[in-house]
Amino acid sequence: MALAAVLWFGETMSAVPLRNNKAGVGEARTVTVLGATGSIGDSTMDLLRGARDRYRVEALTANSNVDALARLAREFGARFAAVADPARLGELKQALAGTSTECGAGESAVIEAAARPADWVMAAVSGAAGLKPALAAVDRGAAVALANKECLVCAGDFFMQRAAKAGACILPADSEHNALFQALSSGNREELVRVIITASGGPFRSWAAADIEQATLAQALKHPNWSMGQKITIDSASMMNKGLEVIEASYLFALAPDEINVLVHPQSIIHGMVEFSDRSVVAQLGAPDMRIPIAHCLGWPDRIVGPSARLDLAKIGQLTFEEPDFERFPGLQLAYDALRTGRGATTVFNAANEVAVAAFIAGQIRFGAIARLVEATINDWIRTGNLALLTSADDAIAVDHGARKRATSLLPQIALKAS
Ligand code: NDP
Repeated sequence: MALAAVLWFGETMSAVPLRNNKAGVGEARTVTVLGATGSIGDSTMDLLRGARDRYRVEALTANSNVDALARLAREFGARFAAVADPARLGELKQALAGTSTECGAGESAVIEAAARPADWVMAAVSGAAGLKPALAAVDRGAAVALANKECLVCAGDFFMQRAAKAGACILPADSEHNALFQALSSGNREELVRVIITASGGPFRSWAAADIEQATLAQALKHPNWSMGQKITIDSASMMNKGLEVIEASYLFALAPDEINVLVHPQSIIHGMVEFSDRSVVAQLGAPDMRIPIAHCLGWPDRIVGPSARLDLAKIGQLTFEEPDFERFPGLQLAYDALRTGRGATTVFNAANEVAVAAFIAGQIRFGAIARLVEATINDWIRTGNLALLTSADDAIAVDHGARKRATSLLPQIALKAS
């Protein structure tokens, strides 16, 4: 069995107590949303909009979308608004003129937003850029709803150790991990046999390998069930996203790779299941709507009234399941391999995938080349003796930067190679 995780206490699955969740009855809880202008940010703000009396917004952040950030900051009376692009400070100040919202710009301002006192922080910046801000929230022992899976994929062991040390409470916001979080409390660590995370299979679930190879950006962006940001939608089409989630589950719940299974479930109604030793399988179900897991994180340890549609299983009629196809979706196998390799390999996996997805969006490589670039980068990284234990955020960021450079240098030869 793997080591006990931050979320396992003694024998029972439970989250670290909310040290900063001091709001008493009738008192508003303070919240910060990192990545407020994105898809997860939008769902979070929607939930906050529906419960104005219970939450007060401390800080909101964006990368460059000043208009949307300023609109939200005005609407919620945020105390602080930060834009990561340092050139946008003047624009942000102008957009918030006449309000009491303080403004900041640059990476340090996003980190400052996370470090300001808020009981609850949504970590929903996309990509590895989310790591330092999330750590700033973790370090002050906040309750951190973690949507940014890259924090765990890039710096998993280290991130969870920091959370444990600071007494931070990590609430899994990704739908599959939130499902596992809810189901795991039905038993203890010794009784756990395996966890199962489901995958819709994406838009290419039933496509032939040759067609997947040639898929266009428009086709990759047509997710059958979920409405999400561009990067994660492409990752869902390649099943790289499921690979990232396997890695995320391993670090979040201290599970060995063999204890994590993926099951294709095209309806996206069951999000995660846990099998226990008595052969009971406990599942969490819900409509494919990110506001459901986010509402669970927002209300935790209680439950709030969510705005999402109620589940009508009779109307859905059928829930179906398939084994994942590791041949047509090689990214999933690469994720398991990187997890088993460890010593920074998952960081390289993530960085190379980010480079590959950006190259695919820019029309530089075919869809099928995304996995080939990731594989070539990891192999090259291992061959040149770069695997090493990551013991700090700077270690993880150095590997991330190095792997991006390596992937970028391999890009031309991958682009030229046909499948
Ligand atoms: P989006 O691309 O929709 O939004 C990303 C947010 O992060 C935006 O607010 C963006 O600002 C901001 N941002 C981007 N780059 C930077 C940067 N360098 N520094 C600071 N802020 C930045 O992404 P999603 O909401 O889809 O995803 C966010 C995270 O949640 C990802 O890690 C994803 O894997 C994860 N996730 C998403 C799910 C979903 O349903 N969307 C489901 C489960 C997990 P701006 O608007 O200015 O660009």
